[in-house]
Amino acid sequence: MKVTWDESVCIHAGKCVQGAPEVFKVEDGKFVIDTSASSEDKIADVVSECPSGALKIE
Ligand code: SF4
Repeated sequence: MKVTWDESVCIHAGKCVQGAPEVFKVEDGKFVIDTSASSEDKIADVVSECPSGALKIE
């Protein structure tokens, strides 16, 4: 599973980092997505709650 993030679309609502902090996090000032840190179902749930559509599953 691969999740992409479009910085120009993100409205920084924080749903992703609140919903799955083990997957969506900021490291050294950069937003990273570690899809190995949770189940695909959980990640898909969080992606579906992104209000801006910045997150996409490929
Ligand atoms: S949930 Fe979507 S809009 Fe909110 S911070 Fe994450 S990527 Fe950005």
